[in-house]
Amino acid sequence: MIIASDGHGVDLVEGRCRICGDSTEILRLTEFNLKLCRHCFVRFFERRVRRALEKHAMLGERDRVVLAVSGGKDSTALLFALKRLGMVMDFEIRALHFHLNMGEFSDLNLEVVREQADIAGVPLEVVRIGDLGLRVHREFRAVTEGVARIRALEQALRSADQVVTANRRSYEAGTRTVLDVLNAEQQRQSVLRDLAQARYEYLLARVRLVSLSGGDVEGTIAGVDGVLRGAQ
Ligand SMILES: [Zn+2]
Repeated sequence: MIIASDGHGVDLVEGRCRICGDSTEILRLTEFNLKLCRHCFVRFFERRVRRALEKHAMLGERDRVVLAVSGGKDSTALLFALKRLGMVMDFEIRALHFHLNMGEFSDLNLEVVREQADIAGVPLEVVRIGDLGLRVHREFRAVTEGVARIRALEQALRSADQVVTANRRSYEAGTRTVLDVLNAEQQRQSVLRDLAQARYEYLLARVRLVSLSGGDVEGTIAGVDGVLRGAQ
């Protein structure tokens, strides 16, 4: 007699466990043609996980495993299985939870995750995605707006160059004073200063963006170094 069914080939029935012989409410796994008590089912599940880890050579001895846990049934089941397997197979497990900053739902979720990690005896790391997302967004905007500002200032510099040249020629021709030339030169220097500042801010934002998104910071700094040398 079926007491309950998950609709995916696992039924709760009355009967006898194939492994320990316990006669109680047992789980019938249609796919494996197997009847197991709750205790033996957990061991069965752990053995299946272990076999998958070994078959695909996913872990070495003394490896450190970080498991992303959502608080849902799948990652929670894996958390408990990996904790036990870690003791047998000699690897260390830590749990990582992304708090999505979606109000009460995310807070309740975090409570569940904390409780489960506590029971499993696994250290938990929590990353608040909302803060990170906001920072990434801010740096991304600084990068895109930085490009537009640099382009505009480069255009302004070309205009200032032309004004300086025109003033020099007019001064040589005697139609402009030396003050006009100096004013044009001062205007050009001010654009140059703004352009240097804009480039500096843009490159800093790029480095921060790469570091926030876990990218290649050293490579970006090397690239930035090249750009700064090129700009001189
Ligand atoms: Zn059993």
